[in-house]
Amino acid sequence: MNTPYWNPKNETMPREALDRLKLLKLKRHCEWAIEQSPFHRRKYEKANFHPNQLTSLDDLSRIPVMTRAEWMACQAEKPLFGDLVTATRDQAIRYHLTSGTSGRQPLRVLDGTKDWEWIAEMWCYGFWGFGVRPTDTVFFAFSYGSFIGFWGAHYCCEKIGSLVIPSGNMTTENRVRQIVEMDVTTVCATPTYALRMAQVARELDLDLPSSRVNKLIVSGEPAGSIPAVKRMLEQQWGAKCGDTAGMTEIGTIMIFECSHQPGGTHIIEDNFIEEVVDPETLEPRPYGEEGERIVTSFGRGFIPLIRYRTGDLVMKVPHSTCACGRTGDIYDGGIRGRCDDMKLIRGTNVYPRAVEAIVREYGEIDEFQIVIWRKDDVQDEITVKIEVKPDLDVDVYELLPRMGKDLAAAHEGLRFNVEAVDHQTLPRFELKAKRLVDERGRA
Ligand SMILES: [Zn+2]
Repeated sequence: MNTPYWNPKNETMPREALDRLKLLKLKRHCEWAIEQSPFHRRKYEKANFHPNQLTSLDDLSRIPVMTRAEWMACQAEKPLFGDLVTATRDQAIRYHLTSGTSGRQPLRVLDGTKDWEWIAEMWCYGFWGFGVRPTDTVFFAFSYGSFIGFWGAHYCCEKIGSLVIPSGNMTTENRVRQIVEMDVTTVCATPTYALRMAQVARELDLDLPSSRVNKLIVSGEPAGSIPAVKRMLEQQWGAKCGDTAGMTEIGTIMIFECSHQPGGTHIIEDNFIEEVVDPETLEPRPYGEEGERIVTSFGRGFIPLIRYRTGDLVMKVPHSTCACGRTGDIYDGGIRGRCDDMKLIRGTNVYPRAVEAIVREYGEIDEFQIVIWRKDDVQDEITVKIEVKPDLDVDVYELLPRMGKDLAAAHEGLRFNVEAVDHQTLPRFELKAKRLVDERGRA
């Protein structure tokens, strides 16, 4: 109970021992994949890769990467799950789908009893590390559907022994009322939805900062590690905000923010190998440089996930950046966005995350949307639409040009159009927010 670590031995393991453990797990995992998954066997034979070639973690690059496109093709060729699944449907206890927010065919995944134990265990590293204890009451603002989302976190809280409140299909208003009524101490949601709940609480005259909530654990969007968003969440809830990130392809989280809040997320290194590479050449990127995340997961018994290209944009820094004593390295700023998120506007690179970081510096903004469009069929334009909080006396004529100036200053002088729109006209989100609309190339 007194330790800050869920798994004290592994979370503080010296680097050399940790690397030895990872190498051993990697070898075994590759051998198992070749034995059990025809997909992996074909792939590795074609690349002339054999697990015997792994003598240190530097040999990782000998293993061919796996892509989502390959996985989807395999699934389409041999429905429903493809021949990379290593156990039969009878052995599974649960079926989930990727969220499909990008409009692509979702990936289908199966998991067994052992997998679900592991999924909850990984969330325990994060929840315990951020301070969740058996005395906590944890509220999940999550819809419990086919998207895996916070499912694993729910079981993690049962494992820790906290009181869990699932809120399924409740309305936002009822959720906020229950959080206050039930003396909830920990709330789990996406960053966007946590802001939405705070907004509804204000409309209902409920004072969240004076409620018992002292921890807000977010997941599902990059915004959880954007400093301005985090500050806003902490102010509006009167609670400490911690970031986590996972993916359906893994089934759980691979990174979490500890209670020291180092401005980033620790990698659970005894269970995952996380590489940062150049998205073009796949060459490794050093500490302090952005690149694409490639993940190897050791926990799932139904799907070998070895050197899987995620498309996530990250930047690794040494574990010593945080004083908590964990030896797992850190993704500074968590997941920074997607490698293909970048938009080119009149020769300038624009990342939605960078725009959000600036917009959220303005506490008087309730919601916003970025629209990219083409003027007279030739010139690309970028417009940021904002909704100002209704109960505030804000001088919009002063605010709009000021924000335009801030946005331009951060983007090599690129002109941004900033427009105020009526309150409640922009879309609100519960899961993954889609605040960027690219109207170019549409008929
Ligand atoms: Zn730490």
